Amino acid sequence: MLIFFGTFSLQQAITKREECHNLVGKTHFYAGLCAGAAFAVWADLPLLDCAAAAAAGILGGLAPDLDHRKSKITQKTGMFGFVSSRMLKHRGVLHAPILYVVLAAVLFPCIGVYPLTRAAVCGLLAGALSHLFLDALNPSGIPLLWPLLKKRISLLPIQTGGRIDRLIGRLCLLGAAWCAVCAVLS
Ligand SMILES: [Zn+2]
Repeated sequence: MLIFFGTFSLQQAITKREECHNLVGKTHFYAGLCAGAAFAVWADLPLLDCAAAAAAGILGGLAPDLDHRKSKITQKTGMFGFVSSRMLKHRGVLHAPILYVVLAAVLFPCIGVYPLTRAAVCGLLAGALSHLFLDALNPSGIPLLWPLLKKRISLLPIQTGGRIDRLIGRLCLLGAAWCAVCAVLS
């Protein structure tokens, strides 16, 4: 009997945890999309570049969780995700803002003058920053000042998978839809 209840509550805990990861994945997906699209509208890009920035925003919004074994992006990227999630500590270097500053400094001189590539790289970075911002609002926080300070910093105690998390996801989806309308009409 005891074993049955133990197994049952363990199963419930696993299901709940998986739900949390799904919701977080969705929130990051919509936030990345919104960030990429918002950048495109702000930069007044042509429609094709807007689409590239928004799509890259989704990728950037999910990419930092390549350090988590159960994240959607880890599961979808096969061997690459398998290796990265085992080599990198969760909420370690991939969640440090300085990494994306360095990436921007390295990538921008390399991408040349192709507007589509520029739009995609900017969308990617905007998406990644949206991910870091959202994770910083969680009690676990992010290594905001790494490598100066290894300690993770949390800006707000918003629970993963909670009502506010879901609300942020919906607002980001609305924001992305608004940006799409602006991009089409401009
Ligand atoms: Zn994360």
